[in-house]
Amino acid sequence: MRRFTDPKLVVASHNLGKIQELQDLLVPLGVAAISAAELGLGEPVEDGETFAANARIKAIAAMESSDLPALADDSGLVVHGLGGAPGILSARWARAAGGFDAAMARVEAELNATEANDRSAHFVAALALVWPDGHVENFEGRVDGILVWPSRGAGGFGYDPMFVPDGYEQTFGQMDPGIKYAISHRADAFRKLIDGCFGDQ
Ligand code: IMP
Repeated sequence: MRRFTDPKLVVASHNLGKIQELQDLLVPLGVAAISAAELGLGEPVEDGETFAANARIKAIAAMESSDLPALADDSGLVVHGLGGAPGILSARWARAAGGFDAAMARVEAELNATEANDRSAHFVAALALVWPDGHVENFEGRVDGILVWPSRGAGGFGYDPMFVPDGYEQTFGQMDPGIKYAISHRADAFRKLIDGCFGDQ
């Protein structure tokens, strides 16, 4: 595992929420985080077959256009009863359906059409950190839970209102954001990144 010692990196995202979250994490580590949007970098086609592959595609594209180290993430909802869908297509299901309410309704309808109606699911967050020499480190976090219907709560984003993490009663959409932040797939992936590349700094 390579340690990260550079003073700055590019956050390979145009999503303001993600950029802010990554900046909050990196600043205490003494790393300045510049966003791909600030540098005017384009967004690559995410045609990988895994979360890790898509995170890597985004990080490498940002590194190649900036010549700086780059950090990217890719995440989504994996529904066990649907063979892993929507998975890497989580954001695309929402775009195709016209929003997350409709995307959640599609998950529910497809689950009801299965015989087993297995409602277990997990969120995945993959991070890829790439250096200008092309070296890449990948980290993956997850949080397991079950899907409920009707969805509950107006907090969070995406599929949060239908996901109840194991050990809790509330959906991610109902929960205090601080609790979600602490137990989420993204927090799990960040902890692995910090342990792996920033430990003991
Ligand atoms: P990305 O921006 O390509 O990583 O797509 C992430 C997509 O996965 C989002 O648009 C949501 O559909 C879903 N997703 C990822 N993380 C979460 C979460 O914490 N809550 C709810 N939905 C999420």
